[in-house]
Parts: sequence; structure tokens; C-alpha cells
Amino acid sequence: MKLLIFIILSMTLAPLSVAAEQHPIEIHDQLVPQSESSNRIALTLDACSGKYDEDLIEFLIRNQIPATIFATKKWLDKNPFGLSVIKAHLDLFDVEDHGEKHIPAVIGRGMKVYGIPGEQDIIHLRREVLEGARAVEEATGVAPHWYRDATAEYDTQSIEEIGKLGYKIAGFSVNADSGATSKKITIEKRLAHIKAGDVIIAHMNKPSSDSAEGLAVGLTCLLKAGFVFVRLDQVDLREVPEKNDKKSKLRDGR
Ligand SMILES: [Zn+2]
Repeated sequence: MKLLIFIILSMTLAPLSVAAEQHPIEIHDQLVPQSESSNRIALTLDACSGKYDEDLIEFLIRNQIPATIFATKKWLDKNPFGLSVIKAHLDLFDVEDHGEKHIPAVIGRGMKVYGIPGEQDIIHLRREVLEGARAVEEATGVAPHWYRDATAEYDTQSIEEIGKLGYKIAGFSVNADSGATSKKITIEKRLAHIKAGDVIIAHMNKPSSDSAEGLAVGLTCLLKAGFVFVRLDQVDLREVPEKNDKKSKLRDGR
């Protein structure tokens, strides 16, 4: 009888533990500290799909602010003019892999992040990562080494597989624009709380949003405060514990 109860309980609890394991993880990273300079921060910009935010990129060029751009194949294919501007400034911009079709790195039928369906199996995940990387290399002539998926959330199987494919996962520590949905004042406030070592995430694929305006004000203040911007191809990241703050969650700008 005891054995029967144990078996029934195990059968009931097993699906719960699998579900808990499959809960996607939002990866939070900061720059690995360097003793000689403690004022380094990184700006990362996602180019999911959508358009080219010319105001934002022109602001960065005018102010010589380096940034790491996570571009999908979709975005690169749709925005030849934006790509030509970025290619003319590869001294400022490091272009990295944001996937082929902008699909979250969660594996299994029915798996979704923020309503966006994930990958049906590991073969599709590999294709998303590798075809995204190939598109970046073909577009810029430089092979990417960092990967950030759509939504910046991952399941454990995907994290392992992306590592095996040879890519480092780029998290973030400050979500500046919530997928280019934040108002200008919100973006300014979030950037006002930046600390040395922070990795900012924002979006460059929605020119009609407040992102360019909010970032222009916020980034100008950071420059005046003496922060030095670095690109991810110049540094390494370390994972920091996830804040238990739902407001910090990313809403990825598709
Ligand atoms: Zn994205």
C-alpha cells in the first residue's frame, strides 16, 4: 500500500518538477571588473526585426559612443541602409548574433516566452544560432562570438547547446527601454542609476518609439559623469544574481 501511494505521489509530482526545471531563465550579467579602470559600462542594442532607428545610431556616431549591436538575419535583410551605416563605423559598432528569425531559446512544443513560441527541438535551436551568426559574418565580414536570443530568456538545455556551438550568452543588468516601449522619462531615470560594470540593453529597431530620445539624454549624462563605454568584443561578462523584480523583466521589441 505504501509503495502504491509513493508511486501515485511520484506520478503526480513529476510533471511539476519538470515544469519547474523548464522555466526559462533571464540571464543578468555585468562586466568582469578590471582594477585599472572602474568606470566602464557597455551599451547593447537589439535589432530584432522591424526598422532602423537612424536617430539613435546617428547620435552614437556624433558622440563617438561604442555599442554592441545584436542583429537578427531578419533585421539585416530588411535594413540595407542601416547596415551600410553600421558597416561604415565598425570602429564603433560590434555586431553580434541575435538569431536567424528572432525565436526564444526555449525548446519543446508549446514552450513560449512573452507569448512568442520557442523552438520545437534542438535542431531548430542550432539553426537559429548558426544561421544568425552566418548572416552577421556575411553582412559585416566579422564573425560574432556573443549570442543573445529573442526575449533574453533561455532554458537550461539551450544554454548548454549555445555554449557547445561556441557562443557566449550576453545577458544585461539594466533594461533601459523594455523592448522600445518605455517613455523618454522612464529611460532617462533608468540610465540615471547606472553603476560601473553595468550592461545596458535597449532597442534600435523601433524608430517611432521614445528610445532614441531617452537614450540621447541618458547617455549624454553618463558621458559627462565620466563613464567609458566598451564593446562586448573587448571584454568578458560575469553572471550576477537575478533580481526578484518583475519590473526589470525584458519585454523584447520585435
Ligand atoms: Zn530581440
